[in-house]
Amino acid sequence: MEEIRCGQCARKLAVGDYRRLQIKCPRCGTLNDLRAESPTPERRGASNREELTHDHDRTAGSAPAKEAPP
Ligand SMILES: [Zn+2]
Repeated sequence: MEEIRCGQCARKLAVGDYRRLQIKCPRCGTLNDLRAESPTPERRGASNREELTHDHDRTAGSAPAKEAPP
Protein backbone atom coordinates (compact mmCIF):
# COMPACT_ATOMS: atom_id res chain seq x y z
CA MET A 1 0.00 0.00 0.00
CA GLU A 2 1.05 3.52 -0.65
CA GLU A 3 0.70 6.67 1.33
CA ILE A 4 -1.09 9.44 -0.51
CA ARG A 5 -0.07 12.89 0.61
CA CYS A 6 -1.09 16.36 -0.43
CA GLY A 7 1.43 17.89 -2.80
CA GLN A 8 0.84 21.31 -1.31
CA CYS A 9 0.87 20.85 2.44
CA ALA A 10 1.99 17.20 2.67
CA ARG A 11 -1.00 16.24 4.74
CA LYS A 12 -1.72 12.51 4.67
CA LEU A 13 -4.89 12.03 2.67
CA ALA A 14 -5.20 8.29 2.25
CA VAL A 15 -3.42 4.98 2.13
CA GLY A 16 -3.95 2.39 -0.55
CA ASP A 17 -3.18 1.10 -4.01
CA TYR A 18 -4.12 3.18 -6.99
CA ARG A 19 -3.49 3.59 -10.67
CA ARG A 20 -4.93 7.03 -10.95
CA LEU A 21 -6.48 9.10 -8.23
CA GLN A 22 -7.88 12.56 -7.77
CA ILE A 23 -8.28 13.66 -4.20
CA LYS A 24 -8.96 17.07 -2.77
CA CYS A 25 -7.07 18.03 0.32
CA PRO A 26 -9.49 19.01 3.10
CA ARG A 27 -6.87 21.19 4.71
CA CYS A 28 -5.65 23.45 1.89
CA GLY A 29 -8.18 22.60 -0.80
CA THR A 30 -5.62 21.50 -3.39
CA LEU A 31 -6.84 18.93 -5.89
CA ASN A 32 -4.13 16.31 -6.07
CA ASP A 33 -4.01 14.42 -9.36
CA LEU A 34 -1.96 11.30 -8.77
CA ARG A 35 -1.02 8.45 -11.02
CA ALA A 36 1.06 5.38 -10.37
CA GLU A 37 4.15 5.19 -12.52
CA SER A 38 4.49 1.99 -14.50
CA PRO A 39 7.29 1.74 -17.04
CA THR A 40 5.73 0.28 -20.19
CA PRO A 41 8.14 0.23 -23.16
CA GLU A 42 5.31 0.04 -25.68
CA ARG A 43 6.82 2.57 -28.03
CA ARG A 44 10.14 0.76 -28.12
CA GLY A 45 8.48 -2.52 -28.94
CA ALA A 46 6.44 -0.98 -31.74
CA SER A 47 9.52 0.66 -33.23
CA ASN A 48 11.43 -2.59 -33.08
CA ARG A 49 8.62 -4.40 -34.81
CA GLU A 50 8.47 -1.87 -37.59
CA GLU A 51 12.16 -2.23 -38.23
CA LEU A 52 11.91 -5.99 -38.29
CA THR A 53 8.99 -5.93 -40.70
CA HIS A 54 10.81 -3.52 -42.97
CA ASP A 55 13.91 -5.70 -42.98
CA HIS A 56 11.88 -8.79 -43.78
CA ASP A 57 10.06 -7.03 -46.60
CA ARG A 58 13.36 -5.94 -48.07
CA THR A 59 14.78 -9.45 -47.98
CA ALA A 60 11.68 -10.93 -49.61
CA GLY A 61 11.78 -8.28 -52.33
CA SER A 62 15.38 -9.02 -53.27
CA ALA A 63 14.76 -12.74 -53.46
CA PRO A 64 12.81 -13.58 -56.68
CA ALA A 65 11.94 -17.08 -55.51
CA LYS A 66 8.17 -16.39 -55.71
CA GLU A 67 8.32 -15.09 -59.29
CA ALA A 68 10.00 -18.21 -60.62
CA PRO A 69 7.66 -21.18 -60.59
CA PRO A 70 8.98 -24.53 -61.69
ZN1 LIG B 1 -3.11 20.12 1.40
